[in-house]
Amino acid sequence: MAQAVSVVEVSARIERAATLEELKDIRTEWVGKKGRLTEEMKILGKLSPDQRRTRGAELNQVREAILSALNAREEVLKDRAERQVLETERVDLTLPGREPISGLLHPLTRVRRRIEDIMLRMGYSLAYGPQIDSEWYNFEALNMPADHPARDMQDSFFVDVPGLVLRTHTSPVQIRSMQRHQGRLPVKITAPGLAYRRDDDATHVPVFQQVEGLVVDRNISLGNLLGTLKMLIHELLGENVGTRFRPSYFPFTEPSVEMDVACAACGGDGCRVCKDTGWVEVLGSGVVHPTVLKSGGFNPDEVSGFAFGLGIDRIAMRLFGLDDLRLLYQNDLRYLARFQSGQGGSLS
Ligand SMILES: [Zn+2]
Repeated sequence: MAQAVSVVEVSARIERAATLEELKDIRTEWVGKKGRLTEEMKILGKLSPDQRRTRGAELNQVREAILSALNAREEVLKDRAERQVLETERVDLTLPGREPISGLLHPLTRVRRRIEDIMLRMGYSLAYGPQIDSEWYNFEALNMPADHPARDMQDSFFVDVPGLVLRTHTSPVQIRSMQRHQGRLPVKITAPGLAYRRDDDATHVPVFQQVEGLVVDRNISLGNLLGTLKMLIHELLGENVGTRFRPSYFPFTEPSVEMDVACAACGGDGCRVCKDTGWVEVLGSGVVHPTVLKSGGFNPDEVSGFAFGLGIDRIAMRLFGLDDLRLLYQNDLRYLARFQSGQGGSLS
């Protein structure tokens, strides 16, 4: 016998094995393909039949003993490992939860939706148009020919393609909506969207949001316009807000009217915000100019209409009590988050 096999010695090692890896090593060393016991069994063939029988029986007993010791120990170690996993991965239900960061809609989006909501309730449909539009839709169709002085008032962003411009107002949507109706009445649309002008100061930004309203039907009058605007502004800013109308001039309306609301900062007494007038302009409007109706495919002798446009940004400044519009466009979350808790003004 080249090597005596001590079952007691091996069993002791197995008992001491602290990990499954260690146990695996012992298994390989003794009963693996090249294990010590396996090697012993290989040389059985060289023995005489008698010796072989005795030695074979001996070795088998040892092998059985080692295997059963290995299996028993493996059970114990596996059980221990499992319990350890359960211990370390236990969920502590008493830990405080992680508060999810809840987002909020941008203040301007909330104001836009509120205006849309009021308009929809008054029976208007939403209408949209391209932000890069032709000069025809943006100017000519709206009664602003190439040499019209109003085209200087609105210093525009032109694009590389001749004849195209970043729309300076949402009014081109009026023309597109009328055309889409192909003479069918009534046209009653509201067009929210972005517009672009070369402006940049505390109350003007180069990209701003407008909402447009247009009604075309038979016998539409200035009275219909004034009633509609009063309702819109009262829904938006409150029943009790003071309003007034002033005659004005726009190329696309005749007559043209601007609407003012009582200054929120001073309540009408006069202050820096309202330039001591007690009033703040909120929108421009008027009875649709015959040329505009014609551009939209309607006969001004048969139908009439009114139109108005207001800056969502201006309404937001009013609702939130802001004095610098540009802050709303810088998208600084620390600033915008104020509008969640209501610190920046109230708007549900
Ligand atoms: Zn004031």
